[in-house]
Amino acid sequence: MQTRIIPPTPGAYAFPLLIKRLLMSGSRYEQAREIVYRDQLRYSYKTLGERIARLANVLTQAGVKAGDTVAVMDWDSHRYLECMFAIPMIGAVVHTINVRLSPEQILYTMNHAEDRYVLVNADFVPLYQAVAGQLTTVSNTILLTDNPHPQADLPGLLGEYETLLAAASPEYAFPDFDENSVATTFYTTGTTGNPKGVYFTHRQLVLHTLSLSTMLGSIDCVRLMGTNDVYMPITPMFHVHAWGVPYAATMLGIKQVYPGRYEPDMLLRLWQTEQVTFSHCVPTILQMLLNCDRAQGVDFAGWRIIIGGSALNRALYDAALARGIQLTAAYGMSETCPMISCAYFDQALMAADAEVRADFRLKAGVPVPLVEAAVLDSSGQVLPADGESQGELVLRAPWLSMGYLDEPERSAELWAGGWLHTGDVATLDHHGVIDIRDRIKDVIKTGGEWISSLELEGLIALHPAVREVAVVGVPDAQWGERPFALLVLRPEQEPVAATLAGDLKRHLLPYVQQGQINKWAIPSQVAVVDQIPKTSVGKLDKKRIRADIKRWQADGHPAIVAL
Ligand code: AMP
Repeated sequence: MQTRIIPPTPGAYAFPLLIKRLLMSGSRYEQAREIVYRDQLRYSYKTLGERIARLANVLTQAGVKAGDTVAVMDWDSHRYLECMFAIPMIGAVVHTINVRLSPEQILYTMNHAEDRYVLVNADFVPLYQAVAGQLTTVSNTILLTDNPHPQADLPGLLGEYETLLAAASPEYAFPDFDENSVATTFYTTGTTGNPKGVYFTHRQLVLHTLSLSTMLGSIDCVRLMGTNDVYMPITPMFHVHAWGVPYAATMLGIKQVYPGRYEPDMLLRLWQTEQVTFSHCVPTILQMLLNCDRAQGVDFAGWRIIIGGSALNRALYDAALARGIQLTAAYGMSETCPMISCAYFDQALMAADAEVRADFRLKAGVPVPLVEAAVLDSSGQVLPADGESQGELVLRAPWLSMGYLDEPERSAELWAGGWLHTGDVATLDHHGVIDIRDRIKDVIKTGGEWISSLELEGLIALHPAVREVAVVGVPDAQWGERPFALLVLRPEQEPVAATLAGDLKRHLLPYVQQGQINKWAIPSQVAVVDQIPKTSVGKLDKKRIRADIKRWQADGHPAIVAL
């Protein structure tokens, strides 16, 4: 195709899309607005800019060069925010280490990413020391701590962050460079094999930020975060840059509150004192918050929370709403930077009943600006957007990881046929709404039927005695697989455990009669447990759940009940 390209005027400035541009606009809008860290520190956007420049000077003087990887091991903090800007702004790559992985996995990711410098929170010094002897590329470390008298035995220690920043200049001439330079990297843990490194360029992060901000602030039917909001992440910053919201909040000059280590008491105190209006988290974290002592009797009116990373079910939606919290689901994954879709109500839905709209807040939603989504059958053909045809959700967008770091085979699988393969089974409907039915690996195949473990979890969670639920397929000689439900009961409901089997069956039968699920969806077995295994980012860990059940079935587990 011959399109018209006009050569630029000699001397016209080719403006690269760099992360530094996001910082520029935020501080232009609101110099005095605050960044808050726990109940310990607050400073203005002006200071944020100066501290980022100081950090850039510290790193440059320490020898960090463009292209180097600088890793961070920290809780959610103002220092993390500074790293998310300063490191890429000098042309280096920030590796946000998932501190919840096992030491072996952390070691693997650090060597694989070729980390040269590491900023380590004092809480993670023992973890770092445990792997330090086997790190192959790290030369230096910097200590992050709230302790006014810092001390740590870290190999290659350059010093303590605040002391180093205080001695550095608050000015730095951040250079322009190619917008396709890698800015961030981090690792996603699959069900098999080593963690996989994803990576995002400056251009991708800038475009993601612009689209995310549009989604959060400009869509009238679902207004989530605007310039007068107060933002507090409850998704770790190591997990997909806290879903990219800190970049958006900084671009817009929004007040930001960083809670450090997630402690329910501190989170709720900050929510109250800083008047937080917008957050995002996985369902289990919100459940934990709503259940904690400090939250009892509190009216959370005005708090809007995006739920992502796992399906949002009706029970949690209703429980949150009863406490004044408006939940909205969004969908994305590590490979997608992450934002892909969020609730949107077109005119037909706006005219519909509020109950109908609530159902649409639970679904993955409509792709955000610039995202293209399709559902493919097993031969790679595009399926109709009829709300019925289920297939693998595939994506295109300007901010998807272009592969896995140094993993050509897994990268080729990720991008087979020019689409990013999500590994999720979904439908698309005529409103453009994506409905995630399940992970392909978690769909339960029983007697020729496909059962969505997510749907079943959503229905079981509506049982008043159930506090938490996970459903997996377990091998069955006759049916291939059968659903097995793991339940945590509400404390006051312990007596119900005795009659649980019949009770749960009675609870699910009406959904069978209404045709919402088929009769094979009723689990064959349930087990009551104290807690359900979670992954490093707080999602149900179905791999471990399956392994636990296998062990119990071999050894006998007192709480397994047949339905
Ligand atoms: P991760 O890469 O760890 O962020 O996990 C991404 C996966 O989380 C997706 O592939 C989905 O399986 C799941 N997920 C994310 N958002 C949603 C959602 N709104 N509903 C259902 N599953 C979701």
